[in-house]
Amino acid sequence: MEGTVYKSTGSWYTVKATDGSFYECRIKGKFRIKGIKSTNPIAVGDNVHFELDEKGEEKVGVINSIEDRKNYIIRKSVNLSKQTHIIAANLDQVFLLITLNNPTTYTIFIDRFLVTAEAYQVPTVLVFNKIDTYSDAEKNEIKFLMSLYREIGYTCIGISAKTGKNVDMIKEIMIGKTSMFSGHSGVGKSTLINAVEPGLGIKTAKISQQHLQGQHTTTFAEMFDLSFGAQIIDTPGIKGFGIVDMEKEEIGDYFPELFQLKQDCKFNNCIHMDEPQCAVKAALEDGKVSWSRYKSYVQMITGEDENYRIDIHGE
Ligand code: GDP
Ligand code: ZN
Repeated sequence: MEGTVYKSTGSWYTVKATDGSFYECRIKGKFRIKGIKSTNPIAVGDNVHFELDEKGEEKVGVINSIEDRKNYIIRKSVNLSKQTHIIAANLDQVFLLITLNNPTTYTIFIDRFLVTAEAYQVPTVLVFNKIDTYSDAEKNEIKFLMSLYREIGYTCIGISAKTGKNVDMIKEIMIGKTSMFSGHSGVGKSTLINAVEPGLGIKTAKISQQHLQGQHTTTFAEMFDLSFGAQIIDTPGIKGFGIVDMEKEEIGDYFPELFQLKQDCKFNNCIHMDEPQCAVKAALEDGKVSWSRYKSYVQMITGEDENYRIDIHGE
């Protein structure tokens, strides 16, 4: 039988089979997944093949293979062992929720997130939430950010999860896909989950609670079917993706607008810092590359982390 993993609790995996019913599955023998060493061989979102338990127990199965993943996101444990845990696999898209205040989302955070998402090959939609709360000056700031990121190619939507404004646009993009909501604590992820699917928030809050209390600590993610034909993966306690280990030379490849220009740089290994005849530097002077993006890029290259609020007048 074939199915998709909806939940994992260490040794048991809840699999939704193609027939629509759920099976509790274990893993057969040792699993080795190509290219990655992780504490969990199978993650939420994985497509698996399984057979029914020999003992004939109802709705119990054994997973014997897993299909290639189109992407996956990981987190590294903070302890010394630095073990990798796969949070979720086969995401179609992630919605990054952004607010100017309460909490402040700095552009360096957005850009780091986008670089990681590019590296993981997860399409990202930027959702500017709490638009019901902004002053005229802040509305301008949001407009500026939206046009900046749209120009690079990212879909940007301004919403209010609280009033429901533009939430239908989010739902439309979610149909037929597996999505995840990310962003700082307090940006409105739970509120948005409730706005797209009233009632679901209760389930996810319960998981979050268990997570806080330290129970089911291996339950990092769970997939839910939504009534309008979409799936959501809830990841309690996880703000963003783990940062991917990257070489300096690689970082620019995950800024789409810098990557495009790189072929015009004099040196093919140009990192757009002090090299002569750099196409990125030229585009920056011409205003074709945004200073805030370039600033984030430099911070990522140099490893310096400084939060700043974009200054649209200085741009
Ligand atoms: P989470 O930590 O990302 O899940 O954030 P929550 O959904 O818990 O929201 C944090 C706070 O922001 C709550 O008090 C929400 O009521 C509030 N909030 C969320 N979305 C909006 C919005 O669009 N407008 C306003 N005014 N408040 C919001
Ligand atoms: Zn260059």
